[in-house]
Amino acid sequence: MVERFEVALNTPAGRLTTAIDVPTGLIPITAIVPVTRRLGEEAAGLEVQQAIAAGQTISCQMGCAACCRMLVPLSAPEAFALREYVEQLPTDRRTQLRQRMSATKDRLTREAVWDRLNDVAEASRPIPDEELDPINRAYYALRIPCPYLEDEMCSIYEARPAACRELLVTSPAELCQDLVQNPVTPLPVSMRIGSILGLVWGTLTNSPPRLIPLPMALEWAERHEEESRRTWPGSSLLDQVLDNMWRFLSQAFTNRRGASGKGQGGPGKDTDPRSHL
Ligand code: SF4
Repeated sequence: MVERFEVALNTPAGRLTTAIDVPTGLIPITAIVPVTRRLGEEAAGLEVQQAIAAGQTISCQMGCAACCRMLVPLSAPEAFALREYVEQLPTDRRTQLRQRMSATKDRLTREAVWDRLNDVAEASRPIPDEELDPINRAYYALRIPCPYLEDEMCSIYEARPAACRELLVTSPAELCQDLVQNPVTPLPVSMRIGSILGLVWGTLTNSPPRLIPLPMALEWAERHEEESRRTWPGSSLLDQVLDNMWRFLSQAFTNRRGASGKGQGGPGKDTDPRSHL
């Protein structure tokens, strides 16, 4: 049985309204990942519409995978969801992926980057940006293609992490060939879905929000498999997701108001961001 919620969120790029079905019983955290990503994509869609209306062009197109050489962070719920996705693939696809994962691990180990990534994934405290930055740079300097990249296309497109969905640029695509040297113009992101899922997981498990580097996400999810089996009421998970979204949207409104110097609306949680249909 599912319960249907009508969600309305005001974002800096417009109002988002959508219906969400959530199982009425106890569900694992992975069950809330697709719907959370969908809300993020719908918010991103509003940003795209707004950019196009302002005469901008989105440069990102199928077949361009320049940004698939960056280090992608996942929240714990996304790492568990990715493992579930990979586990249901046909055996030959799974084997191919595992081989590429293993080759990536070997290379990162030789370059003395793997252990640094592992320290990030298993950290018992939030890691500040100034500590993450040199690790991101060391990884990007290697220009290692994401292990899920095949012929410059994402082979897990429908299951790709939120961070991959959120990077869209309006600057010329060729600038993305060197994201350190070149100034690129990303579209604003009002809700970081990976961070939101990470915060929800941190609250549920009383642990710090965690960043799991994509190349080790499967290994990490296997190590923590027992945690992934825990369950919570579906409506309570959705509540936590929406509360964190509202906090992100509040911040996004504040940031943009500061950037433009003009007054704008607010995130408008309404009295409650959701209402039963
Ligand atoms: S998961 Fe897909 S979109 Fe994300 S970096 Fe890897 S290949 Fe690119």
